[in-house]
Amino acid sequence: MKHTAFIGLGSNLAQPAAQVLQAMQSIGQLSNTRVVARSSLYRSAPVGYLEQPDFVNAVVKIETSLTPIALLQALLALEQENGRTREFQNAPRTLDLDVLLYDDLQHHEHGLTVPHPQMHKRAFVLQPLLEISPACVIPGVGAAALASERCKDQRLEKLPAAVAGYGSTE
Ligand code: AMP
Repeated sequence: MKHTAFIGLGSNLAQPAAQVLQAMQSIGQLSNTRVVARSSLYRSAPVGYLEQPDFVNAVVKIETSLTPIALLQALLALEQENGRTREFQNAPRTLDLDVLLYDDLQHHEHGLTVPHPQMHKRAFVLQPLLEISPACVIPGVGAAALASERCKDQRLEKLPAAVAGYGSTE
């Protein structure tokens, strides 16, 4: 397991909390990959297209031997297995999985940008990320804690551990 990566999870359809929890398990079952920390679940307001249910979000930290592209492809396959359709940008989704960070890589190629280009603007990414990695630095951006300060006005609620069936682990 040579690499450390952080994956953002989100869902706002078909029992979102269960979707996110199931996806955490599935990520841990990817080849040469293990989940080493998982955040609490958070409820967030939708971004962009507002006429849709709130999202449930979380972040997991993994160790993996997969390359960034192989990891992205594995996550896209998990999205498909969970019935994800792409009707329009920011549409409701059963499961959204993003590669947030991969080591300290700054990388852009067709179909993959790391760090995820929107992550430093989104409280629903930054707060769960900081929960499991308080000193996290986003390459090209800076301390995740500072980015989070700038997103304070975004509505975000940490769900009780009972909803997730667990507390946060490191
Ligand atoms: P969406 O699910 O709407 O956020 O967009 C997913 C698409 O964004 C995928 O088809 C990827 O090719 C592309 N993408 C680019 N960078 C990333 C990343 N870091 N994580 C996930 N998807 C990415």
